[in-house]
Amino acid sequence: MSLDDVYREVVMDHYQNPRHHGHLEHPTLTVGLHNPSCGDELHLDVLVDEDGIVRDAAFEGQGCSISMAAASMFIDRVRGKKLEEARRIAESFKDLLRRREADRSLLGDLEALEGVSRFPARVKCATLVMNAFEQAIDRIEEGGDHK
Ligand code: ZN
Repeated sequence: MSLDDVYREVVMDHYQNPRHHGHLEHPTLTVGLHNPSCGDELHLDVLVDEDGIVRDAAFEGQGCSISMAAASMFIDRVRGKKLEEARRIAESFKDLLRRREADRSLLGDLEALEGVSRFPARVKCATLVMNAFEQAIDRIEEGGDHK
């Protein structure tokens, strides 16, 4: 079994058995994003507490296996993390896909999507959930009322 096969299995497992799929009852913020180049749709609920920790997140949407698997993997990774750590995870993953030096220790299962970097058109699929997450936490941090 090659590393590519192992990675493919990890991706398919997240796609077929998504973690954190659905909605949160009381999200701090919800962001909906669309990736027109592929047709992926994603809704992301994020719950951040007053200490700036991602208490929970959930996603729902329709799209290709890459976009849905990435959402499942990413949420798995950022739950329980501080906002700045979650941002670093998103940044490291984007670095990986841009073939820059990335902090792989932050990535967990997300590393299985590294092969997407060979297909620039699909990078937007893989980063859709991070873009939604970054929009959400930008707005949470701007809106001081959540303090
Ligand atoms: Zn896609």
